[in-house]
Order: sequence, then C-alpha cells, then structure tokens
Amino acid sequence: MAKEIHAVHPNIEFHAISCVAHHDICKEQGIRSFPTVKVLKEDSYDFKEIKLGEVDAEHILRALGFSNDSVEKAKKDASKKAKVHEVARVIPFRLHDVHDAWSGKIIICSCFTSFYFFLFCTDICREDAALSFEFALKTGIHMSNGPLSPNEETAFRDWLELLSKTLPIQMKRTHDIINLLLENFSKAAESQSKMDYLISQNIPVEPKREWRTCTYGDNQMGYTCGLWQLFHIMTIGVVEYNQHNAAIPTRHASEAIRNYVEHFFQCEVCRLNFLDMYDNCAFDGCHRLSAQPATTEREWRELPLWLWETHNDVNVRLMGERMKQNGQVEPNSWESQQARWPSLVACPNCWREDRSWEDERVFEHLHRLYW
Ligand SMILES: Cc1cc2nc3c(=O)[nH]c(=O)nc-3n(C[C@H](O)[C@H](O)[C@H](O)COP(=O)(O)OP(=O)(O)OC[C@H]3O[C@@H](n4cnc5c(N)ncnc54)[C@H](O)[C@@H]3O)c2cc1C
Repeated sequence: MAKEIHAVHPNIEFHAISCVAHHDICKEQGIRSFPTVKVLKEDSYDFKEIKLGEVDAEHILRALGFSNDSVEKAKKDASKKAKVHEVARVIPFRLHDVHDAWSGKIIICSCFTSFYFFLFCTDICREDAALSFEFALKTGIHMSNGPLSPNEETAFRDWLELLSKTLPIQMKRTHDIINLLLENFSKAAESQSKMDYLISQNIPVEPKREWRTCTYGDNQMGYTCGLWQLFHIMTIGVVEYNQHNAAIPTRHASEAIRNYVEHFFQCEVCRLNFLDMYDNCAFDGCHRLSAQPATTEREWRELPLWLWETHNDVNVRLMGERMKQNGQVEPNSWESQQARWPSLVACPNCWREDRSWEDERVFEHLHRLYW
C-alpha cells in the first residue's frame, strides 16, 4: 500500500509505533484494537481513523484531502496490482494477517505530517492467551455450582497437566497458577469460591488487564481469540516438549484440548461445532494424531498443523456466516481463501503457486509466531 501511495505522492511518510513501548501515545490516541490506522494532515492535530475495511490507498488519500485525480491514479495502480496477484496468488487481508506479518509491533505510518497506527502481536499474544486462561478459571471451569463431576475433574486435570508441560517458561504467572492448582487439585475442583480463594492467597493480584490483540472492543472476542492463541502455543509446545522428554502422544494432547472445550468452553455454538469436527475426524485427525508416543518431529508437527487447519475451517465458516448476515451471497473460493491464515503477505513461502499449502513453511510460521 505504501508503494501504491508513493507512486502518486512520494512525500507521504509511513511510520510504525509499538504500543507496548509507547503505551502513553497509544492511550492518548484512544487506540484499543489491532491494527488501528490513523491519518494526520499537515498542520493539523485532527487524527482521522480509517475504518478497517477501508485501509487502502484510495481511502487514505481521500482522508488526507488529496484530489480525485490522485485517488483515481492510486486506484488504477492498485487494481493493476490486484490482477497480477489474482493470477499468481491470493493476498488475503484480515486483521490477524497484519499483526502476524509484523509480529510484535504496532505500526504507525506517519504520512508527511500524517500518521497511521497499526497495532500488532507477539509477546502480546502470550499475554492474551494467559488472560484467556485466567478468564476461563473464573467463568468456565465451575459453570455449574458445586464440585466438578468425575469427567470434569479428569478433563480439568489433563488440561492443567498439558499446559504445565507445553507452555513456554516466559508465561511465568500462568505456570505459577497451574502449579498451584495441580498441587491443590481437590480444593480447586470443589467450588469456584475455593479455587478463587486459593489463587487470591497465593498469586499476586495484577492490575486489571484487557485483551489486546483482537478484541475489536468486544471482550468475548478477546477471550475466544486468546483461547485459540493458547491452543496454538500449546500445540507448538508439545513439539518442543517432546524433543527433550518422554513424548506426549499427539492424540493425548488433542483429546485434552477437546475435553477442555467440551466441559469448559462457555461459547455453546463454538463448542458444538468444534466437537462435531473433532469427533468426526475432520482433517484426518483420527489418523494423523497418534495415541502412541511418536518418535519423530515430523509426527509431532501433525498436531499444530491439524489445529491450524481446524482453526482455518472455523475462519472460513465464520466468513460465510458474516456474509450471509450482511445479505451477501456465499463466499466464492477466492473469498474463502482470504479467510485462511496465514496470508501471502504474512507468509509468502507458506503458499504454493496453485494456492495449496507448503506445510513445512506453515509449521515454521506457526513456530515463529507462537513460540
Ligand atoms: C475452539 C473454538 C471454536 C470456535 N468456534 C466458533 C464458532 O463455531 N462460531 C463462532 O462464531 N465463533 C467461534 N469461535 C470464535 C472465533 O473462532 C474467533 O475466535 C472470533 O470470531 C474472533 O476472531 P478473530 O478474527 O479475532 O481471530 P481468531 O480466529 O480468534 O484467531 C486468533 C488469532 O489466531 C491467529 N490465527 C488465525 N487463524 C489461525 C490459524 N488457522 N492457525 C493459527 N493461528 C491462526 C491470528 O493471529 C488471530 O489473531 C471459536 C473459537 C474457538 C477457540
């Protein structure tokens, strides 16, 4: 996009800022979601926010007050470029593509005296995953009053044990909570108040945090987004763990995630859809995930790749549902492609020319992002 704009107006500048490092600036600008794009005209303090569906050369130039001629030229250049990509490869644009592509940073593009803000993810993903873990402890584990049933107890313990083996050491607070719950499991399984008390007595209270990678102002979306991130971190964590320890069978890990979803994921539609996919061996899960402790990394990698495919399936389905809600026809294959992660922008090597995936590159991309 910067290139398209520079072709017409070379003096427009693009800058990036990390909202982690420059929290004060982002707070002052009221930035709450990722990415945020803002434009500032010369000699003005009036930041204009660009809506997410409109982050393109045309809208940016219009927001900066450029003439219709400039805008038309940028549009022509953009459509030429789009045609080339259509023949060669797809370039999907989704919110998460952008923060993955620039992992860890919030980008502010400042144009001439004009700024855009993009907000991205890396360490923040871990924080959001940790937040979803803690949110579920408060709201998902003891959904009904009273002690956990035997099945729930097993699911909860398996979940905690898997987490304790597969989360990176950097997630120290989460590890502390997991260890505490495993050491005092029967108390934690007894009731919400007992678990809350246990945690409050042993884990320092933190200032109230909010999800940062993908809330779009909606807390529930932050939760599910953080939960996906937690799952992805764990599945990469299985590959890491297995390299140095007695291997966790990939099916054991996938079952722990499945049973967690079944018993503790409050989003009913998500739960039903996920279980339906899992139990019907979607993406060949029943074969590629082995109940035996496999010995090669290639076999372990099937777990994160299976989860990635499952997540993409949800992405594509949700895109279709959203289009239907907006009265649009079903997405065509091009549009479905756009819902898939990672995009060509984020990971050019993940895609083959025929739009199929290069699994090894996808694994590397998952690893880079989540580990
Ligand atoms: C198990 C599960 C099942 C769900 N099922 C439904 C459902 O049936 N209906 C419904 O309305 N909502 C469902 N949700 C919620 C939905 O998937 C999203 O979490 C929510 O819509 C927010 O979407 P998002 O675009 O912020 O990113 P999310 O889809 O939440 O993704 C989170 C992050 O993961 C990364 N990512 C995206 N795709 C992939 C991938 N394929 N592999 C690895 N990383 C990826 C991106 O960085 C992204 O920011 C489900 C959530 C979970 C955890």
